Amino acid sequence: MARTIPATSEDRPNWVRSAPFLAFHVVPLAAIWTGVTLGAAIFGVVAYIVRMFFITGGYHRYFSHRSFKAPRIVQALLAFGGTTALQKGPLWWASHHRAHHRFSDTAEDIHSPLMGFWHSHIGWIMSDRHTATDLSAVKDLARFPELRLIERFNWVGGVLLAATSFLVAGWSGLVVGFFLSTVALWHGTFTVNSLAHVMGRRRYATTDTSRNSAVVAFLTGGEGWHNNHHHYPLSARQGFFWWELDPTWYVLRGMAVLHLVRDLKVPPPEVRSASLVRTGCLDVGMVRAHWTKAAAAVAKSRVTLGHSVHDGVASVGGAIAGTRAGLESKLAAERETLEAGVASSLSAVDAYARLLRQGRRSA
Ligand SMILES: [Zn+2]
Ligand SMILES: [Zn+2]
Repeated sequence: MARTIPATSEDRPNWVRSAPFLAFHVVPLAAIWTGVTLGAAIFGVVAYIVRMFFITGGYHRYFSHRSFKAPRIVQALLAFGGTTALQKGPLWWASHHRAHHRFSDTAEDIHSPLMGFWHSHIGWIMSDRHTATDLSAVKDLARFPELRLIERFNWVGGVLLAATSFLVAGWSGLVVGFFLSTVALWHGTFTVNSLAHVMGRRRYATTDTSRNSAVVAFLTGGEGWHNNHHHYPLSARQGFFWWELDPTWYVLRGMAVLHLVRDLKVPPPEVRSASLVRTGCLDVGMVRAHWTKAAAAVAKSRVTLGHSVHDGVASVGGAIAGTRAGLESKLAAERETLEAGVASSLSAVDAYARLLRQGRRSA
């Protein structure tokens, strides 16, 4: 997807700081020498599935959205388990994810595909813009000293898992069971930020571009029902219907039976049947995305048309200076009319989206 929201200089990748992250992607090639043993392959698959649950059930549905309740010890275990995925600590993760929901698909969104697919998938992590944690957004979590401790030493979980993979399955265990599994887990998780906003269907007219995708749900243990999720982020269940595969939800239900968690929130029936695109609700999220693209195209045409007219005329010489002035002023006038139309449509739909968001937040 083309970049339609311009990036700032802060959004550029910091290649030096990202070197360890990139190096992780190269290490699995060492499997050429270590081979892939059955034990290493099983360890890698189990490590992917279990850690995906800690991200989806823990970092996302619990810490970011508080969609269920958990005793303090379970909360700490969810936090520590999440750190083994090497996606920083729960406070950093939740503060950024809450910002994504607050500003989805606007210039303030940390990973909107409207800033380019690459940026939404991986570029935002490699930039310097999002390294800090906004503690004001996670006061409810930061008040627990054990969570602050786990946050501070968030690398420990990954190191322990790496050591375990080596002890269980040797060098192949380390290379395949830990490194390859971790890289796969990262990209699986990142598809929710990138693919789940461009691929799939929209059931609900949310103010963003989120979509429901069975493929992303399969890769992420149920997070692919992302349009459902943006419609009702409070829900611990993201597959709203029985045919929407949501393994994270099944595990949470099992944990509730064992009294490890409680008060799992689900969408009330009236929420599930509200704002349906197929019943004619204005799909404000997509309308806004299309107008944002139109505004970007018009802004780009100002640059390219301006240059081409100037260059073309310069090559012929000054003989047609009068024609050039006339042509340029006509083009400028038409562009201004077009720009004004696009800008006013975009601001109207932006205002409508803001009102909808406020309405949903206070509901
Ligand atoms: Zn989203
Ligand atoms: Zn969310």
